[in-house]
Amino acid sequence: MSNNHNNSSFPLYNNNDVLMEYSGADMDMATIKSLIRNLNEAQEISKTGHWKLVISTNELFWSDETYRIFGLIPNEIEPSYEKFFSFVHEEDRATVHDAYMKSLEDKKSYCIVHRITTKDKKLKYVEERCIHKLDVDGNVIKSIGTVHDITERIEREKELEIASNVFKYASDGIVITDKNNHIVSVNSSFEKLTGYSKEEVLGKDPKFLSSGWGNEEFYKKMWSSLANYDLWNDELWDRKKDGSLYAVEQTVICVRDKNQEVLNYIGMSRDITEEKNSQEKIHQLAFYDFLTKLPNAKLFKQEVETYIKSAHYNSETFAILFLDLDNFKWINDSLGHHAGDLLLIEIAAKLQNIISEDGILSRLGGDEFVILTPYENLLSISQLADTILSSVKEPITIQNREVNVGWSIGISLYPQNGDNHSDLLKNADTAMYEAKNSGKNSFRYFNDMMNKDALYRLELDTKLRHAIANKSFFLNYQPKYSFVERRTIGVEALIRWIDKDLGFIPPDKFIPIAEESNYINEIGRWVIKQALSDLKIINSKLATPISISINVSGKQLDEASFYDEAKSLLLESGVEPSLVEFEVTETSIMQNIESVVDILKKIKKLGVKISIDDFGTGYSSMSYLKKLPIDTLKIDREFVKELEIDEDSKSIVNAIIALAKSFKLTTVAEGVENEEQKLILDGLNCDMTQGYLYSRPLSLDDLLAFLS
Ligand code: C2E
Ligand code: CA
Ligand code: CA
Repeated sequence: MSNNHNNSSFPLYNNNDVLMEYSGADMDMATIKSLIRNLNEAQEISKTGHWKLVISTNELFWSDETYRIFGLIPNEIEPSYEKFFSFVHEEDRATVHDAYMKSLEDKKSYCIVHRITTKDKKLKYVEERCIHKLDVDGNVIKSIGTVHDITERIEREKELEIASNVFKYASDGIVITDKNNHIVSVNSSFEKLTGYSKEEVLGKDPKFLSSGWGNEEFYKKMWSSLANYDLWNDELWDRKKDGSLYAVEQTVICVRDKNQEVLNYIGMSRDITEEKNSQEKIHQLAFYDFLTKLPNAKLFKQEVETYIKSAHYNSETFAILFLDLDNFKWINDSLGHHAGDLLLIEIAAKLQNIISEDGILSRLGGDEFVILTPYENLLSISQLADTILSSVKEPITIQNREVNVGWSIGISLYPQNGDNHSDLLKNADTAMYEAKNSGKNSFRYFNDMMNKDALYRLELDTKLRHAIANKSFFLNYQPKYSFVERRTIGVEALIRWIDKDLGFIPPDKFIPIAEESNYINEIGRWVIKQALSDLKIINSKLATPISISINVSGKQLDEASFYDEAKSLLLESGVEPSLVEFEVTETSIMQNIESVVDILKKIKKLGVKISIDDFGTGYSSMSYLKKLPIDTLKIDREFVKELEIDEDSKSIVNAIIALAKSFKLTTVAEGVENEEQKLILDGLNCDMTQGYLYSRPLSLDDLLAFLS
């Protein structure tokens, strides 16, 4: 056993255990602080006892302190070499004895550190030093020695060992500076974290790692916290040797001596770059649209709210533009979602190029975008809206196919149309609907009338929810007159709604709302069922059965289950399918032509007839008529209205009838109100008329009376 205690690692102490126990462990601040303070204040704290051994008599003398070191009261026992030996730790006895014997033999002094067990069974570390007194012949006559209780020092050395291992193996980067904040030591994690070697940084102020991220205020706070609390902790970005940035959670502690003078600063840096980056990613996901990378609805709301605050104080104005793509659904359905996505990305980039630097563009979802833009006068907003509209004048090429899109834009102004995010957005949305309803590819400013309209729509929407259950719907039937057969050959079912509060609500008002909220599917099912069951009643009273036309909204055709439901309703009713006709408006067919063709073909196979309603208003091309499995064209009321006074109307109706004949389609003229119209239509070879002249829409009972 070595007795060389000058070596920094104490021989009786297993270095590897500490290493295993502490490598990578997080340090408790208090521990580190006390360890480092010990390091700085390391001083010998030992008590020294004396002893003397007279060789000739074998007499041993102990000083009072020696007794105390062995846990004894002075003079409690008669000292002897054997007694002394009984206190030496069992494992150290041989070493101690050998050392003493060898020193006697060599007549040289010695020094040894060993363990003792005191009377009260405490383990202590002692350092024994001994010199020998020789007579003239060189024989040893006395050994004089000291015994130092160095237990406390050893304990400290152990702690220091732990501290230095913690320093060495900690996963945190640690930098120790002197009181002037010059680096005196760094650990290897620091080297790894920063890319700088210890040699490169010694003597430097750690400031050199700064990325320029923190401002003066930031560092001021740090120093004041260190001065007041000896501690500072925050997150910051520093720069590595290779120039890249890294984020750390930085803790700096201040170590002071007994007199409260600063000795060192210890900085510990936990690498949180990855955490920060994933936070960044989460932020990206939470606040940005994945497709266009534009701010999403949530972020837009925040931005608007911030904008309102500053606009309020600075009396500024801004506008919200609510944009909705026209025909996007058609593109998505016919070219696929991927093409739809590509289009949105392309469109987003176009918008981004158009809006000013202070503007904020966001995608709310689907094909809805919003823009916040400051403005000086209304003209500049109208110009912006115009630029947006003309940016999509030319077709856009997506996957080698040219597509035509348009925008419907609604505009609300701060503060005139709202002083909060929700009102401004709602009103811009309302104005957008207005733009859409009035022919698309246009923009509209919000006005209060729209708001009233929107409220009314909202009220209807709520009421619609309960209308079926409340049995507030019923059907009217308007007879159709055949020029050829000179009789009623069919009726059109027209829905009626009487609400207990609002009274009669015309279908033109509530059907579009029902279409938006999808109640139309439920309502549509009810209409088909009711109409079929009424038709059975009607025909049961007639010698020659008549047919029934049922209006079907484009939204219903979109519903995947429509075909199956219609088929089973038909089967359940037992009505002959050829007596049933579905009326679909030209516009709704045009909006969704590809998918509508398939479903109409299937319906046609059931034996049900198909009629194109409001024909002439949908700008349909002749070529698509050929594709459609239709039986009837219903000439829109608009053309019939002025038939007797307007030559243009007459030639249009004439053309429609000619076209229908060439496709072998039956023609029905809607809205015939007077004899002149009827005569002209008869002369143009129109097949049937329907209108107030022949009969208004009637209740079932009135219809039965009308037919009898
Ligand atoms: P529509 O399919 O074009 O129906 C004809 C509309 O013209 C009916 O209005 C009818 O009352 C009206 N009308 C008939 N003859 C004349 C006339 O000589 N002069 C004038 N000025 N009007 C005439 P109504 O019942 O108000 O229905 C309006 C629209 O609501 C319908 O137009 C149809 O698009 C829709 N609708 C009605 N019932 C249903 C339904 O059950 N389902 C669906 N999806 N839509 C329906
Ligand atoms: Ca109709
Ligand atoms: Ca019609």
